[in-house]
Amino acid sequence: MAQRIVLAGAGHAHLEVLKALAERPLADAHIVLINPSRYVTYSGRVPGWMAGHYDLAQCRIDLLPLVRAAGVELLEQPVAGMDADRDCVACPGIPPIEYDWLSLNVGGETDVSWFEAAEPLLLPVRPLAEFAERWQTLLAQAERERAFRLRVVGAGAAGVELALAAQHRLCSLGSGVAVSLITSAQGLLPGHGGMAVRALERELRARKIALVRGPAAGTESGVLLPTGESLPADGIILATGRRPPCWLSLSRLALDEEDHVQVDAQQRSLSHANVFAVGDICQRVDRPLAHSGVHAVMGGKVLAHNLRAAAQGGAYRPYRPKPRSLYLLGLGDQRALASWGPLAARGRWAWRWKQRIDERYMASLTFATKAGRG
Ligand SMILES: Cc1cc2nc3c(=O)[nH]c(=O)nc-3n(C[C@H](O)[C@H](O)[C@H](O)COP(=O)(O)OP(=O)(O)OC[C@H]3O[C@@H](n4cnc5c(N)ncnc54)[C@H](O)[C@@H]3O)c2cc1C
Repeated sequence: MAQRIVLAGAGHAHLEVLKALAERPLADAHIVLINPSRYVTYSGRVPGWMAGHYDLAQCRIDLLPLVRAAGVELLEQPVAGMDADRDCVACPGIPPIEYDWLSLNVGGETDVSWFEAAEPLLLPVRPLAEFAERWQTLLAQAERERAFRLRVVGAGAAGVELALAAQHRLCSLGSGVAVSLITSAQGLLPGHGGMAVRALERELRARKIALVRGPAAGTESGVLLPTGESLPADGIILATGRRPPCWLSLSRLALDEEDHVQVDAQQRSLSHANVFAVGDICQRVDRPLAHSGVHAVMGGKVLAHNLRAAAQGGAYRPYRPKPRSLYLLGLGDQRALASWGPLAARGRWAWRWKQRIDERYMASLTFATKAGRG
């Protein structure tokens, strides 16, 4: 009997699995990738697109050639639920899909719960495709207005890049622009070294982006700060922490207190040995691991091996992250901030470095389609 493998979500990790399958197909397995669309927006390039340095097409990955090369069936559906005790996942309008092995890589959702009152003004970062549409609408609105007030909530890597990209683009329209970056209680760039934080503070000052301490909540006209002060807004980008999809709470998988799937070093669920999870949806129990694209990609390479080992019998590998990861954060104006452990530096050279890495990444997906059966 062929093994039934379900890959839920075309996140960074599953793209690595598809690349590995295109290079070396898996015999006696029927593999299905479930993703709401055949297109995936690559988050690493979204700030560069917002700033006007890329076309949207350059941020988009077409899954169809990749799944064909990998010998995988693509089901264009959102996963809406799962029952890990019954080995099945649910998608709207079709019978449950049963699996022998399941891998979860659906990422996270932007938590909008504190901002519902501000709904018409909101641009939640996830899902990225919707964010891209809303950004284009906001740009058209900003072009018509003489003054524009943008608040970016969330000052992790994503919020910082988005605020700087937005400021660059809005200023190029010629209208009066006020951009604020609102941190959570953890402050600016949590997890990065003091040098990166100080360099970024200088950058924000030079670019006249106000750094405001939160946490903030949404109101009908903008955001409310913990001091009681209200900041009126014409648009609010929400880059607040990602939360796992709500259907996970009914999945019967072992979850942490924030509803991430608890996994071991091999990325296997603690409660169900035939379920893997990688990326923003999971939390390692053996060690803390930041939710980032870097770990989703590197974890995906190990996942590709472990899924093969699961289906064919073989030893699993642990994902051993490097002690430090390099982050290249775009500053919106074709410069970037390089942050590596305690060290940080910024300049055009860092942007060119980031571009080379992103180009290589996108090219590796195209190369995989040529290497495979597609
Ligand atoms: C603007 C921005 C910039 C960033 N910059 C960096 C950076 O420089 N470095 C870095 O390391 N990280 C960065 N990040 C963080 C990084 O993007 C995430 O940590 C990373 O994308 C998580 O990868 P993932 O594989 O878990 O999921 P994702 O990449 O989020 O992919 C999830 C996939 O699942 C699909 N999906 C969602 N819901 C469902 C469902 N119900 N059913 C089926 N499929 C579903 C989605 O369509 C998507 O294809 C950035 C994030 C943003 C938003």
